[in-house]
Amino acid sequence: MCIPVPIIIGAGPAGAAVAMRLARAGAAPLLIDRQVVPGDALCGGFLSWATVAQIAALGIEPVALGGHRIDRLALFAGGQEIVLPLPAPGMGLSRHRLDTLLRAAAQDAGVTFRLGHAVRTLSSTTIMMDDGDAIDWDSLFLASGKHDLRGAARPHGGADPELGLRLRLPPSATRHRLIGGRIELHWVDGGYVGLLLQEDGSANLCMAMRKSALAAAGGRPMALIAQLADQAPALADRLGDVPGDAPVDAIGDVPYGWRATTSWPGLYRLGDQAAVIPSLAGEGIGIALASAEAAVAQWQGAGREGAARYQRDFARRALLPLRAAAGFRALGRRPGLLRLLAATPGAARLAMRLTRIAGA
Ligand SMILES: Cc1cc2nc3c(=O)[nH]c(=O)nc-3n(C[C@H](O)[C@H](O)[C@H](O)COP(=O)(O)OP(=O)(O)OC[C@H]3O[C@@H](n4cnc5c(N)ncnc54)[C@H](O)[C@@H]3O)c2cc1C
Repeated sequence: MCIPVPIIIGAGPAGAAVAMRLARAGAAPLLIDRQVVPGDALCGGFLSWATVAQIAALGIEPVALGGHRIDRLALFAGGQEIVLPLPAPGMGLSRHRLDTLLRAAAQDAGVTFRLGHAVRTLSSTTIMMDDGDAIDWDSLFLASGKHDLRGAARPHGGADPELGLRLRLPPSATRHRLIGGRIELHWVDGGYVGLLLQEDGSANLCMAMRKSALAAAGGRPMALIAQLADQAPALADRLGDVPGDAPVDAIGDVPYGWRATTSWPGLYRLGDQAAVIPSLAGEGIGIALASAEAAVAQWQGAGREGAARYQRDFARRALLPLRAAAGFRALGRRPGLLRLLAATPGAARLAMRLTRIAGA
């Protein structure tokens, strides 16, 4: 019997996980990524306790990840600080390290890679590579994450879209004392700032902000960060004497809240191409890994014909965490309610659980 080669676009968490699961199930997947070596994707770098367990289920032991252990959530809103224990420890880990480990596990599983070339366009039968190659597909797993492909782009826009920004801060004793062991969320005008330490002691400062907030800072990310530090003294303490010309990574127009509810025959959309959760929930990687597991289970039973069913079912499964994360984000603008949530036994724990993607 001839089993058509499943093709995966994108070797981030979703694509690497789907590739290793397909290979272990006996398929011979081809994994395409435009980057020869994993970069350090713009991400908050928080792996929740649930995401750590999902990674362990792929065969990568938590200790092998080597991340910075995180057991508390600190919320800063309206001049108040609320600290809550996490249900179980999570981790701060750079995406370079996570993606490198996931790729290595996919390689060990026997996945074939095609690296250093981007897919330019996607049609219902064919993908076009940037070197002019046309590849016909039978089953396609779209895991290009934050980047849309021509032919299958997610809806963007809105009057004031949200941007992702990230600043890396070098290891420092002050930051280690202030944020060691914590994932911090600072609500600020126009969005939020997330902060944690990673495996090498450096800090990852990541934020989702309205484009208008950046425009008001003259379009200069470091000017925006300086303005936020003026608003939020705790943030200023953590920034320290970061130079005004420090490089800031940016990604435009993140379609938070979007879900793919339909698909074409054979097209399985994964990760951010399936559902985009507000990033302060720290569950995007969890969703990526869960979508990979669900897609492979469906593909094994129904092949290319199972794609629409998978997409519908996964969209339903993602609805609750997406809504819960949007509600949690809105709470930051009502610090009184946030305090009430933190003070109500069980409520904070429930909120943390509701923002996780449920098991299949
Ligand atoms: C500001 C911000 C903070 C976040 N913080 C967190 C957090 O702390 N914790 C968390 O769990 N989630 C977080 N997320 C969400 C998380 O980053 C994503 O949900 C996750 O990366 C999705 O994984 P993915 O595999 O779908 O896509 P990605 O991680 O984006 O990977 C996509 C891969 O596809 C490749 N690719 C893209 N286009 C092409 C192409 N045309 N051809 C070939 N290859 C291509 C890329 O090189 C990349 O390797 C955050 C997101 C943002 C915006």
